[in-house]
Amino acid sequence: MEARIFQEFRDIVGPRGLITSLEDLRTYECDGLTNFRVLPRAVLLPSTTEQVQSVVRVCHRERIPFVARGSGTGLSGGALPVENGIVISLAKMNRILEVDLPNARVVVEPGVINLDVTCRVLPQEYFYAPDPSSQSVCSIGGNVAENSGGAHCLKYGFTTTHVLGLEVVLPDGSLVHLGGKCLDAPGYDLLGVFVGSEGTLGIATKITLRVVKRPECTRTLLAAFPGTNEAGAAVSGIIAAGMLPAAIEMMDNLAIQAAEAAVHPNYPDCGGLLLVELDGPVAEVAELMQSVEAICRENAATEIRLARTDHERLLVWKGRKAAFAAMGRISPNYIVQDGVIPRTALPHVMTEITRLSREAGLRVANVFHAGDGNLHPLVLYDRQIAGQEQAAEALSYKILELCLAAGGSITGEHGVGEEKKRMMSKMFTEPDLDTMQRVRCAFDPLLLSNPTKVFPTPRLCGEKPGEYVPHPLEISGIAERF
Ligand SMILES: Cc1cc2nc3c(=O)[nH]c(=O)nc-3n(C[C@H](O)[C@H](O)[C@H](O)COP(=O)(O)OP(=O)(O)OC[C@H]3O[C@@H](n4cnc5c(N)ncnc54)[C@H](O)[C@@H]3O)c2cc1C
Repeated sequence: MEARIFQEFRDIVGPRGLITSLEDLRTYECDGLTNFRVLPRAVLLPSTTEQVQSVVRVCHRERIPFVARGSGTGLSGGALPVENGIVISLAKMNRILEVDLPNARVVVEPGVINLDVTCRVLPQEYFYAPDPSSQSVCSIGGNVAENSGGAHCLKYGFTTTHVLGLEVVLPDGSLVHLGGKCLDAPGYDLLGVFVGSEGTLGIATKITLRVVKRPECTRTLLAAFPGTNEAGAAVSGIIAAGMLPAAIEMMDNLAIQAAEAAVHPNYPDCGGLLLVELDGPVAEVAELMQSVEAICRENAATEIRLARTDHERLLVWKGRKAAFAAMGRISPNYIVQDGVIPRTALPHVMTEITRLSREAGLRVANVFHAGDGNLHPLVLYDRQIAGQEQAAEALSYKILELCLAAGGSITGEHGVGEEKKRMMSKMFTEPDLDTMQRVRCAFDPLLLSNPTKVFPTPRLCGEKPGEYVPHPLEISGIAERF
């Protein structure tokens, strides 16, 4: 990149806000999906919306692609840098700007860590509901871009339910406001379009969140089953009985072993484990919990434990929340997959995953949001063994095809990013993809904001499939200037 551009960036964010040394750039070469790596040309760390705008204006003028980055915990390669592009890290924009509890609203900068929102309002008995297992490190900006979920989204809804307003720097550097503190703004639902857009429509610089009053009581039950089929039948039974638990999570035996090795949550050793959490008024929760217990027993539960203290409850959750990272205890490498199926397809899909896993000669652990039908198969492998990484990737894609065949989706909460863009054309028709592409082009006609992600073959506005139109980067000759 030309020296004058570096100088301009330095003038905007200050010398400490610009990273160019190879050693430091390595930190940003991937996100949580470590088998994709690209070195950015530079990383910029703006501290204000104005700085983000100025940086993006330079990118627009010079046709430099950019990728927004929160905490880099994404699991689909969304924050993976793009060739010859820069990374704009929002980590320094981490202030909680306003707490407005009479209206149950909190306004934050994008780099605020998810759990910090709850910590801030908990003394007043409020919480921020979307709770990805990475909530102690992931940023609200990343959550917005991925429309992140979590164990409690079964009852409370995904990030999109809790984001009411956004300030966004568009890819030409202009500033727009989508939604606001009030509900149901007139006009197109551009807020809904932006949430889950994976950094392809611009950069969120201010976010208005809805926080929720804490329920009177929360009870958590652990139920052990011979296998995931019996546990799955219990999940269907609970939902069919008309209950809406705060969370229903499932782990298979391999996931239990990993969690035990990592954080010792004292789980029963069984084929399928359910964590069922109910919250609400004390009397209602007590009565419903009896029904949950009865349904679990009807479906062959071998052991049922109700957490008696907050400490026991937190231990139950510690095991579940640590489950992905815990895979490192039982395997040198692993791929976290993320697919969705109708709940009723669970027994069939679990049986098929076991078959595919045997066929590939690779172990697959399962830990997932059973109430939402949001699976997280973890494909275990050893990178040192020739061909195993490719075999693991192939198996993880086969599992997604299985989800599609069952009437589900290729992602529940981790996004498409770099990893799953090849699956988009299996899920969507050409006109579907074309419509999405037109929306993207309306925000970013030059395809500068996280280009190459989400879509299998990014196209410019008006370009037809198969038709060749040179990309603006080619026209401007920017590629040669790097
Ligand atoms: C151990 C572990 C457990 C996890 N558990 C869950 C889970 O339960 N549920 C879940 O949904 N996810 C989970 N994740 C995935 C990940 O934590 C989420 O996707 C999270 O939202 C990413 O946030 P981040 O700040 O790390 O974003 P990053 O990884 O930095 O970025 C993610 C995407 O957001 C874009 N982006 C970031 N900031 C902005 C911004 N301000 N404006 C526009 N675009 C932006 C990036 O370009 C990228 O496309 C888990 C990850 C790990 C490692």
